[in-house]
Amino acid sequence: MPKTRQSAGTTKKDTNPLEGSRAKGSGSEPQMQHEPKPPFPKQKQSGVGLESQLQPKPRYQASKYKPAGKLEGKCALITGGDSGIGRAVAVLYAREGADVAISYLPEEQSDAEETLRAVEAEGHRCVLLPGDLSEAKFCDELVEQTVNELGKLDILVSNAAHQNRKKSLEELTDEELETTFQVNILAYIRLSRAALRHMKAGAAIIATSSETGIMGSAQLPDYSATKGAINAFTKTLAQNVIEKGIRVNAVAPGPVWTPLNPSDDGMTPEKVAEFGKQAPIGRPAQPEELAPSYVFLASDADSSYITGIVLQVMGGETTGG
Ligand code: NAD
Ligand code: MG
Repeated sequence: MPKTRQSAGTTKKDTNPLEGSRAKGSGSEPQMQHEPKPPFPKQKQSGVGLESQLQPKPRYQASKYKPAGKLEGKCALITGGDSGIGRAVAVLYAREGADVAISYLPEEQSDAEETLRAVEAEGHRCVLLPGDLSEAKFCDELVEQTVNELGKLDILVSNAAHQNRKKSLEELTDEELETTFQVNILAYIRLSRAALRHMKAGAAIIATSSETGIMGSAQLPDYSATKGAINAFTKTLAQNVIEKGIRVNAVAPGPVWTPLNPSDDGMTPEKVAEFGKQAPIGRPAQPEELAPSYVFLASDADSSYITGIVLQVMGGETTGG
């Protein structure tokens, strides 16, 4: 696999027809004010959703981000790395010098192949490991396959999630409740347990939480509960492994433009068109605005004194404490 480093912002074409050229985003305008704002085209997806079907296409290229070899020689496993936040993290980890493995559901193969292309364009390896994280066995196999393919595991990003809005708790079936807990929190715990068998001092575990785990969310009872559990488990595991020199943190995003919400059964095309408007910043985050936090928390030189935090990336939403 070629290891030629390509400088950020010069190698990949902008694939977003509605958002203008990539060069626009890499100019002098502040990124904070120039990411896409609602209204978006009305749209709806079923199943897990595909990034390739979203309009406008989520921005994961992070053309303004300048790499500094922060993850040189590291190997990372990123669940849900086919699309959304996970894809953006995979690309920035590669830009910072890491090889990555990504997991996703088999029906997301086309999105996963796009991530692979983007990671390889950064000069690094991307191993594709499809499977269902709601199966306990797959969580163990995923970690083992990653170590077999990449040789070791330095960074685990537990990022996959299942989410469907409901009008009331009555609408929550036992099957849905179990799936949400299996994918969002049980997989995080199982993957961490398996990963720790291989991790050495300097390793990092990072989970994707959500603002709903801090503030609650009326229509997401099961999902919000798993995100609260992710926060508590992150703090607990951080305390448990600190003496091994391993750090454990979470990132809590506000609304992000990814397939997750357009494919949420409880979302309408009209609601998707307004997605993120309620955030203080007036728009959803783009995945490229989340990924640098995952680099920061993975990088020993940047965050060696930080473990057990839930880093809020919430577009101006503030919480007590
Ligand atoms: P996304 O749809 O791109 O990523 C979620 C991924 O989860 C999917 O790509 C899929 O591969 C994976 N997944 C779902 N069910 C699975 C299963 N049974 N087995 C294996 N993989 C499965 O959406 P995203 O927004 O990038 O989500 C990434 C993380 O960000 C999630 O943890 C989500 O809860 C969190 N988050 C998202 C938002 C948002 O507004 N998009 C806000 C807060 C938190
Ligand atoms: Mg996906």
